[in-house]
Amino acid sequence: MRAHTLNLLQTATRCSRVRPQPNAHQLAKCASRWSSTSTSASTERKWSTPLAKTLAEAITTTGPISVAAYMRQCLTHPEGGYYTRQTSTGQDQFGTKGDFVTSPEISQVFGELVGIWLYAEWLAQGKKEKVQIIEVGPGRGTLMDDVLRTISSFKAFANSIEGIYLIEASPHLQKQQAKLLSGTEDLHTSEIGLTAPCKYIPGCKIEWCEDIRLLPKEETSTPFILAHEFFDALPIHIFQNIAQSSIPASSTIITPTGPIKPKHGVTTPKNTWHELVVSPTSPYASAGTTITTATGKADEKLDFEMTISKTPTPHSLYLPKMSSRYKKLENTPDAIIEISPESFAYVSDFAIRIGGSNSVPSSPQPASSPNAPTSNQASFPKPEPSGAALILDYGPLDTIPANTLRGIRSHRAVSPFDSPGKVDLSADVDFVALAESALGASPGVEVHGPVEQSFFLSTMGIKERAGRLLKGAKDEETRRRLEVGWRRLIDIGPDGMGKTYKAMAIVPYKKKGPVRRPIGFGGDIVG
Ligand code: SAH
Repeated sequence: MRAHTLNLLQTATRCSRVRPQPNAHQLAKCASRWSSTSTSASTERKWSTPLAKTLAEAITTTGPISVAAYMRQCLTHPEGGYYTRQTSTGQDQFGTKGDFVTSPEISQVFGELVGIWLYAEWLAQGKKEKVQIIEVGPGRGTLMDDVLRTISSFKAFANSIEGIYLIEASPHLQKQQAKLLSGTEDLHTSEIGLTAPCKYIPGCKIEWCEDIRLLPKEETSTPFILAHEFFDALPIHIFQNIAQSSIPASSTIITPTGPIKPKHGVTTPKNTWHELVVSPTSPYASAGTTITTATGKADEKLDFEMTISKTPTPHSLYLPKMSSRYKKLENTPDAIIEISPESFAYVSDFAIRIGGSNSVPSSPQPASSPNAPTSNQASFPKPEPSGAALILDYGPLDTIPANTLRGIRSHRAVSPFDSPGKVDLSADVDFVALAESALGASPGVEVHGPVEQSFFLSTMGIKERAGRLLKGAKDEETRRRLEVGWRRLIDIGPDGMGKTYKAMAIVPYKKKGPVRRPIGFGGDIVG
């Protein structure tokens, strides 16, 4: 089972405000109230959501929490999490009436091309048997619906599928996916979670579980894994590079025993990574905690704020040391980096399922993350690597994301501290870090991309596929929707999805002969 309990003691730390300090009087009032009568303070105060109150009470007892812990609770807390809670109207988070629209919801062409991509990989790898189709974070199930409908017309491929597995944290979304993909909400209990038959492939079962760790790995299986807009929802830690000492090189230091000159003449200011942590705003602060959000609500008082931890946290001691990409920024004062160990754990799991692993993965090490899937990532020898993972999400091509945490409500960007649990939270995906993790976890895989979505979909033939659908469109409205939809997916302008979104593939490592590029990543259909 996923651990939903906050690991507050681990993240407890002293912190300083990023925003202007309250005056001494306010601080004194604040200190006495939060230390001696903390419980009554948190019950008296009006919080924007029940989850905000729960979080504030926990933080008041144990100290500020990491941004990752905050994000995790806001998104998947069993009662008040954005994805996991039951909404009062029964309306889900997606679509024009919800908070955001994703590519599979915009056009069926997207899922159809993903289905063709899987078929092309299956052909290129010699038509393996015992195929598993796995999707992490399927949302409404629209992508899987289009993929399975497409695959079911390639009979040999469809017959090779032994199971379909959906990794979904939200029980409500699991039900919604079942309605679409099985035609029922009547799910039966299985060893890993819930199960129902697949409506597209006779005799094939769909299984749901809430964490990929629950899905056993099998040496002889060929897993095809999809992750669409999943990684942007996984928690990130944020670190800022701050000068440890601002003592000028030539200065004299005053000590209790008298003044001394630094022995070697120069004291180099040393930068260290400090973690940004989350704590409640002071109930008394005014300007210091007032934020104008993207909703346009000026002077809105938010429940939480981000502060810089003065002391090291468990994560600041090792995460920024995990990659030479972070090390390169060690001499850049105020540089900010976002790191998602949970994403590393997931992508390492994908890589090991495809390529096997002979030893515990070396870099990055998901085992060090308190929330990360770890236990089944030890030794998993796979005599013949097989399968593929296709990751589609937003993020830069090769730089480390910085300042990308945002809230999203009703298709607009809002503060990540706006109405905790009622607002979607996401951050850009660091594709290079995912690639490094996959390669570090398994000797049997190679990574292609990231490439821009416009390149991926165009080389997969989106124009031709959309053209065929347009010819068969039954009315003007359908034609218009199709036309607008497919163009938006590859539009590289600011309102389009072609440039912001990227595709990356993990496939078996080819030891001999020239590199075979998968279709959509510069390669052709083979086999
Ligand atoms: N792939 C879908 C939905 C994207 S939203 C689409 O593109 O339309 C993110 C999805 O991931 C949701 O289904 C959400 O419930 C699920 N999710 C978020 N965090 C998760 C976690 N830690 N474990 C499993 N599922 C998670």
